[in-house]
Amino acid sequence: MSAGKQITLNTIFAGMADLESGWVWLAGAGPGDPGLVSLLTLKALQQADVVVYDALVGQGVLDMAGEQAVLEFAGKRGGQPSAKQADISDRLVQHATSGKKVLRLKGGDPFVFGRGGEEARHLVEAKIPFRVVPGITAGIGGLAYAGIPVTDRHTNSAVTFLTGHGEDGGLSKDIDWDALAKSSPVIVVYMALSRIKQMTEQFLRSGRRPDEAVAVISKASTPDQRVLETTLARAAEDVAKAKMVAPAMIVLGENTKLRAGLDWQGAMAGRILDADLSGIIPQGKVPPKGC
Ligand code: SAH
Repeated sequence: MSAGKQITLNTIFAGMADLESGWVWLAGAGPGDPGLVSLLTLKALQQADVVVYDALVGQGVLDMAGEQAVLEFAGKRGGQPSAKQADISDRLVQHATSGKKVLRLKGGDPFVFGRGGEEARHLVEAKIPFRVVPGITAGIGGLAYAGIPVTDRHTNSAVTFLTGHGEDGGLSKDIDWDALAKSSPVIVVYMALSRIKQMTEQFLRSGRRPDEAVAVISKASTPDQRVLETTLARAAEDVAKAKMVAPAMIVLGENTKLRAGLDWQGAMAGRILDADLSGIIPQGKVPPKGC
């Protein structure tokens, strides 16, 4: 920025799309820290007549809504079952049809394990104009807040995102667990806490090592963030002992060890970071050139 150039949010917003009457914006709020909200989502919060939000959207983000905005909750509360998906989609259509500027706000990214696609299809069917505003997903941004790069050329050149929830209370049946265990050096699991025992046992049966490094990240990027470093064999027991709570991500793989050198939040609280990770990053393994 050149010296003396004044830049205000209004100037920035002026160059961006407007949330117009009769439209729905399907936007991501990021994993928790309000600072991780995109400028487009912030603009929509300011312009919306109604914000239909999920349980994972924090108060700090909702506080950025304009004064005119009516905030409508559409998630689980106090153990009550969540509002039915069809009801939420219908509500979005009703609001838009009545000429409102509608912001549908979801935790993380709306298209990552967030049913954003289903809601968008409903809008298409009802011929409601919409825009999708991506957000920072917990499986990437949440890891970054724990000091864990989701990829690092020394540890993994591939990553798999997975949900711990299958259709009927078990693990997903449409996953070839053996193939996944063999092919993906890093596995990032969403919604896994309630199935952690089943899941870790499945990975062990599918050939992952019992001493494989695992990190469990709870409430990432919020003031209540907690990170547990454990192993595949011990993860379920350690999570119970440490009373880790949802929402949480489980990460399997060598990249989790990089946290010893990159836990920047820990460093702010006095943790000494290990700049020399030669004991962690496998030696003799020549990293691929480039990226
Ligand atoms: N659309 C969201 C994911 C929704 S599924 C996204 O892109 O992040 C809900 C799951 O996301 C939770 O069960 C948890 O596994 C994960 N999650 C969301 N926010 C989180 C956070 N702040 N910390 C840890 N995990 C989180």
